[in-house]
Amino acid sequence: MAVERLRNYIDGAWVDAGAAACHVVRNPATGAALGECPLGGAAQVDAAVQAAARAFPPWRKTPVEDRIQHLFKLKQLLEQHFEELAATCTRENGKTLAESRGSVRRGVQMVEVAAGAPSLLMGQVLEDVAHGIDCAAIRQPLGVFAAIAPFNFPAMVPLWFFPFAVACGNTFVLKPSEQVPFSQKLVFELVHEAGFPKGVLNMVLGGKDAANALLVHERVRGVSFVGSSAVAEHVYRTATAHGKRAQALGGAKNFIIVMPDADMEAALDNITESACGCAGERCLAAAVVVPVGGCEGRVREGLVARMRRLRVGDGARTGVHMGPLVSAAHKQRVLDYIARGIAEGAELVLDGRSVDADPNGFFVGPTLFDRVAPEMTIAREEIFGPVLCLMPRATLAEALELPRRQPLANAASIFTTSGKAARTFQYEIEASMAGVNIGVAAPMSFFGFGGAKGSFFGDLKAHGRETFDFYTDRKVVISRW
Ligand code: NAD
Repeated sequence: MAVERLRNYIDGAWVDAGAAACHVVRNPATGAALGECPLGGAAQVDAAVQAAARAFPPWRKTPVEDRIQHLFKLKQLLEQHFEELAATCTRENGKTLAESRGSVRRGVQMVEVAAGAPSLLMGQVLEDVAHGIDCAAIRQPLGVFAAIAPFNFPAMVPLWFFPFAVACGNTFVLKPSEQVPFSQKLVFELVHEAGFPKGVLNMVLGGKDAANALLVHERVRGVSFVGSSAVAEHVYRTATAHGKRAQALGGAKNFIIVMPDADMEAALDNITESACGCAGERCLAAAVVVPVGGCEGRVREGLVARMRRLRVGDGARTGVHMGPLVSAAHKQRVLDYIARGIAEGAELVLDGRSVDADPNGFFVGPTLFDRVAPEMTIAREEIFGPVLCLMPRATLAEALELPRRQPLANAASIFTTSGKAARTFQYEIEASMAGVNIGVAAPMSFFGFGGAKGSFFGDLKAHGRETFDFYTDRKVVISRW
């Protein structure tokens, strides 16, 4: 049966991508083909960037109050199509409907905060910096910005960027992940309905060729990236070498410290959700649990019991707690990590390799390793699946040493009832998303978001107030009349 071939959205119209090669998008729960995502390259990117460049001068001159009316309309449309967007997200990514709804909600909140641009874009003025001389710092948009998105939050991640960019008066080109293009197809249908002028928002479908074309295009002023760390570093280096602003959010290996004084029931519920929610395909997922001071028996037993109870299946069905991984290739990658863990001597406490679910889907069940040593591959590399490692330590100081030795530092959490332990953790931990009695230190639209060390390349992070610095230039005007 013929499947839909997706199109690009350029200059206010849906256009054939023209590229010969396509990525077949599949429903990860059944393996069924959903459509073909064209793998565009430099020609398609150039068409989108040129459209955005043409749209920039009039959009920049459009008063911010008028610009944000389109965001209010978009917010309204996203609410109207909320369930459809969540269902699309589940269909192409595999996460459960509840998880998709949660992520779409967080995406809508980005539009809400971006609509506050009239306040958030304000500059500063100081009278009489010298006799009769005043000084003002104003924010001005720069031109065309772009974003390159990952597969794991098909609806939400692009919304971390484009609402803010266009609220500031820039124009935009999005390249979604070729693995999950349908959610953004729907978002861009709503963008069209929201009446943004032609060329203000554009979407080009493709994989690494389209991404690389954006990084070197002379009319692109800045690039945001979310994905794996190796690509994040490449994106940051290439974009900055071509004179662009860049923020590149990379991969993760998140540590969770459990103190013996923790509210153990709540902690274990949270950790299970953190490790297995979204099938572990979350840059904020728990990857390593460090029970401190002799509580490892309770932690291990509690996690096994909870992980066993999770019902794995099609995320679109009610009663399912955990969906499949995104693709057959990614499933194989996770299975290879499990095999590696066994080969390197870790104890496989819970084996998720055989699951009672559709054999055509890309399922891996909750998996728990104990006796994991820091030098093992499963302790060092991001697995991006429902695989959790236990590494007990005697003291908080020893526990804090583990993430310090890890090159990635996206998120980390502590579970404790001791303010002193929480304060020490918050002070010492290098990850920039720090949770205290929180399993997933999630991004909030009104705060900034991004990791540290090998999890982030750049300086200004995504959304929150600092995004207004990323998307504008400060001009200082000194005047004497
Ligand atoms: P990925 O790096 O494979 O791909 C991300 C994007 O980059 C895609 O659009 C892809 O087409 C493009 N791309 C892939 N290879 C490229 C190359 N060589 N040159 C240029 N572009 C290229 O990541 P993914 O598998 O889609 O997503 C999972 C990763 O994203 C995980 O590592 C996860 O931790 C990370 N992630 C991080 C955050 C965060 O906030 N730090 C959030 C979500 C996901």
